[in-house]
Amino acid sequence: MEIVIIGLGASGLFAGKSALSFNRNCKVTILEKRDHDQFSPCGLPFAIAGEVESFDELKYAVPEIPGKLVKHLRHEAVAVDRERKIVTAVDLATGERKEFPYDSLILAHGTAPIVLPVPGARELIGKGVHFCSTIENSEALLAAALASTKRRAVVIGAGAIGLEVAVALRERGLDVTLAEIQQLPLPRTLDPEMGKIVAAELERLGVRALFGKGIDSVNGTVRVESATIAGEVIDCDVVVMAAGMKADTRLAAALGAEIESGLVVVDNRMESSVPGVYACGDLARSYSRIDRAPMSMQLATAAFRQGMTAGVNAAGGDTEYPGVLNTLLVGVGELDVAATGYTLETALRLGYNAKAIATKRETKPHYIPGAVEVSLRVVVEEESGRILGAQAIAEEGAGARINVIALAIQAGMTLYDLLDAELAYFPRVSQMYDPLTQLAEVAMKRLRLPPRPCAGAFAAVPRGRKA
Ligand SMILES: Cc1cc2nc3c(=O)[nH]c(=O)nc-3n(C[C@H](O)[C@H](O)[C@H](O)COP(=O)(O)OP(=O)(O)OC[C@H]3O[C@@H](n4cnc5c(N)ncnc54)[C@H](O)[C@@H]3O)c2cc1C
Repeated sequence: MEIVIIGLGASGLFAGKSALSFNRNCKVTILEKRDHDQFSPCGLPFAIAGEVESFDELKYAVPEIPGKLVKHLRHEAVAVDRERKIVTAVDLATGERKEFPYDSLILAHGTAPIVLPVPGARELIGKGVHFCSTIENSEALLAAALASTKRRAVVIGAGAIGLEVAVALRERGLDVTLAEIQQLPLPRTLDPEMGKIVAAELERLGVRALFGKGIDSVNGTVRVESATIAGEVIDCDVVVMAAGMKADTRLAAALGAEIESGLVVVDNRMESSVPGVYACGDLARSYSRIDRAPMSMQLATAAFRQGMTAGVNAAGGDTEYPGVLNTLLVGVGELDVAATGYTLETALRLGYNAKAIATKRETKPHYIPGAVEVSLRVVVEEESGRILGAQAIAEEGAGARINVIALAIQAGMTLYDLLDAELAYFPRVSQMYDPLTQLAEVAMKRLRLPPRPCAGAFAAVPRGRKA
């Protein structure tokens, strides 16, 4: 069984590993156009900020297994023949075209940053217009920031990458303007009330954030000299495009695979509409774990897990991926910003009779130094109290609490279950009455949900005896 994987990112790597561990008789060939082995994109903002000393620290090697797992770096897949089941790749070192036959094919070639169609943006790439998605473009961005004579940068897009890059450049001492066409940061992830907390943190950090304002043009002839944001000309010599990512679906289209919203549609086995062709990671359009609504998730956590499913199935197995929740954690200055599931806006758009309830609580008892406030928000279905989403922001402890809620959503839990959850308590890290439990109680009161009715009285039943 020959499995060809296009792309050696998180999804491609885990697809390959899982295929081999499921079926020792298969041979996995990975085609990767980069000239270096694996790296962690999630670490790029840390290297830009200087928290990680060198970009090389983000790289790591994937060992080959002779005859079983073969990598071809500097090989770009350029064509697929569905009938003959052959991928053609160009060896970027020599220009030679090579054919790779497959029984199963896994598309794992991710996405690339969007270049907004505004004057100057494309023309000035590498001459002041930068991206943060690969080691190479992030190194170029850092070099430009360090060499900047104006000491002024404009970052376009206040999603997770834009926020992290804006803060990293600020840490490097640049004046940073962050422009976001939506009214607040992380618009797909946070409800406005939570977005305001992030906006306040940006202000505290000295990042000038312009919300509800898009870029009109990048200006300059030989190099970037300024950027125009909603009519305002901002003097700068560094512009970072962080306005979203786009998949290259040409190979999928050539195969005749269904494509929707610019992504490759997959089923719960990560199989595309073409039998034997799988897609995983950033380029796959999956579905919500809550209700199977079409949804994608461009995060490493989904990529590796989807890769595992695609790999096993490509190797002859039959396993499934449970769908995405978009559980995410972003660091913005001192704050951890975490979220999972639907925002209120998304839940309402999908037709839920949803309500959001928020509270702010201390993370530790009053007698322990270092307690911080955690802002929590839960989105629930009004009648049942079923949890549909949650958001948390705090200097510490936001991510762990959102992870609990992610599991609760996966299990179809309600506010009753959250109230009943037995969570560990130790004064140095939490409250006896954890902020999550308090959130559940506040939400139940607000929704006028009565205490859970007793399902029938019983006492302890010794093991072995019938309950
Ligand atoms: C700056 C940044 C920070 C991030 N932070 C986080 C985080 O904190 N947490 C989190 O969960 N996620 C984070 N992510 C997202 C995460 O990195 C991605 O979701 C994940 O890498 C997607 O994996 P993938 O395998 O789908 O694609 P990729 O990792 O993009 O891998 C695709 C690979 O395919 C190769 N390729 C493309 N076309 C071809 C072709 N035709 N032939 C051969 N090879 C090809 C590419 O070179 C690439 O190596 C971050 C991303 C970035 C950019």
